[in-house]
Amino acid sequence: MGRILGLLVPDMYASAIEHIDLDSLEESGIEVLVLDLDNTLVPWGSDDIGEEVSTWLDGARRRFRIGMVSNALSERVERWAAELNIPAVSRAAKPRRGGYREILATMQASPEEAAVIGDQLMTDVVGGNRMGMTTVLVVPLCRREFVGTRLVRVVERGILGFLMRRGLTRRLGG
Ligand SMILES: [Mg+2]
Repeated sequence: MGRILGLLVPDMYASAIEHIDLDSLEESGIEVLVLDLDNTLVPWGSDDIGEEVSTWLDGARRRFRIGMVSNALSERVERWAAELNIPAVSRAAKPRRGGYREILATMQASPEEAAVIGDQLMTDVVGGNRMGMTTVLVVPLCRREFVGTRLVRVVERGILGFLMRRGLTRRLGG
């Protein structure tokens, strides 16, 4: 696979952030999780975090250091960062690397020990891969509500199925 196409390939995939298997991440040597905000943690533009996501985040906090890198505007990102009590970078212009460099510096972490978790190939996965971080793709929250598992299966049968059969991406939880 070419270098450019390779940037689009996530290391791992899960149908939702709350399905991410923390044991597997820890066994991979990951100590830091860098989360996307919109459609990963909360639906785009929403002011509410789901109960399942919130529970997952509480569990993740006990085992990993957690930060956020978002392309959203400062006001929104800072509000969520304060709410969740985590460091965050806003207006990151992902897939540019600046936001990831900044959060890693803030958290005193190396790319090798950090995983990016996000819902978009062109921003989260490409950005994380350019940094040499582990990348975890999740199905966007906005789509989960409308088409749910049907979409997940279609996506899996397509690109992700291909990648997983080739051993390029591995499933990380449900
Ligand atoms: Mg997103």
